[in-house]
Amino acid sequence: MTHASSSPIWHPFTQHGLEEPIPLIARAEGARLYDADGNRWIDAISSWWVTTHGHAHPRIMAAIRAQTEKLDQLIFAGWTHEPAETLAAELIRITPGPLTRVFFSDSGSTSVEVALKMALGHFANRGEPRQRILVLEHSYHGDTIGAMSVGARGVFNKPYDPLLFDVGTIPFPHEGMEQLALDALEVACTQKPAALIVEPLILGAGGMLIYPAWVLAEMRSICAAHGVLFIADEVMTGWGRTGTRFACDQAGVIPDILCLSKGLTGGAIPLAVTLCIEPIFASHWSTDRARAFYHSSSYTANPIACAAANANLEIWRDEPVEERIDGLAQAQRAHLAMLAHAPRVSSPRRLGTIAALDVDQSDAGYLSGLAPRLIAFYRDRGVLLRPLGNTIYVMPPYGITPDDLAEVWTAIAASLEI
Ligand SMILES: *Cc1c(COP(=O)(O)O)cnc(C)c1O
Repeated sequence: MTHASSSPIWHPFTQHGLEEPIPLIARAEGARLYDADGNRWIDAISSWWVTTHGHAHPRIMAAIRAQTEKLDQLIFAGWTHEPAETLAAELIRITPGPLTRVFFSDSGSTSVEVALKMALGHFANRGEPRQRILVLEHSYHGDTIGAMSVGARGVFNKPYDPLLFDVGTIPFPHEGMEQLALDALEVACTQKPAALIVEPLILGAGGMLIYPAWVLAEMRSICAAHGVLFIADEVMTGWGRTGTRFACDQAGVIPDILCLSKGLTGGAIPLAVTLCIEPIFASHWSTDRARAFYHSSSYTANPIACAAANANLEIWRDEPVEERIDGLAQAQRAHLAMLAHAPRVSSPRRLGTIAALDVDQSDAGYLSGLAPRLIAFYRDRGVLLRPLGNTIYVMPPYGITPDDLAEVWTAIAASLEI
């Protein structure tokens, strides 16, 4: 079943003029989506990278139901509640020691806006003239104006370009070019920027571009040496995607500011947090109200969302999540290896549970419509995949069955023939 063409809904990242069918989903379980007619799709991109364990995980659903019996929503300026207190304490426990403060918000973009404002507020309150932000080439940090400003410029944000603030861009550390990127960061850091923001180890929307842990560690220490705050945007990489709970763990990197969202609630309900080191909190701490951190959204630390996140953290504590991640990573490796030498396939790559490959784009005209044609091909075969340009990637929930994963890769193999 698809939604009626009379629907008033304006969908995100959707060109309605192309009149592509929009499936109407009625329920979901594990890695599967179902419509009311009994058709099913395998969700091979975790509903845009959010669903970690699987759809409708019973413990998360139960936690949400239980919380709705108690407290639905509460102003968070000057008030607090148990689910948020439990969650904040647990986040501090599972992240590295220097991260001591938790600021709540409600989306990945907002967690990035908060991170940028924390960094700029920190230096403003200390009377230090540091305002510039450094970014990595090809980055994506969200779709609000500040988040777009620190992300790659292109077709997605062209109309807003005059409004986006100027940033310093460090070249992406492509294989063999790592030192070039690090040298560029070193030079940029001498000009006293406020912060560097990075997606650790893998750039998601930029095309699943992977760089090594040692480069991340080097970038971190260059920033530290120059007093530049290091912001890790783990909105996509967090919660096991890259093989470890956080991507920074693989590099032994402790950021000054850490953004988390997407898998924070297991992907069930919106919530985000920005964690920071004590000196950033301390520079806002004062008896002077003018130095307070002026940021809030209406649903900051919504109790139902916090209860879902607490259930997610319990799942990480009690269930063999790491084993599932390892199992999925190995299965992804095997499937990717089978296609690695197929005609038209280049740059097969994998980090943890994320596998990606590029489809040869020698014929740019033909391929300019490749992604939409692939999306339709997969959709008609019961698979939800959404290539980024000519990059096909698989990022499923950890609970996907081996059969469903095999079906996803069979669909990809078949799509290389079209
Ligand atoms: C998805 C994403 C965001 C934006 O998160 P939203 O919840 O969509 O606002 C920010 N940073 C990264 C790395 C992301 O992948």
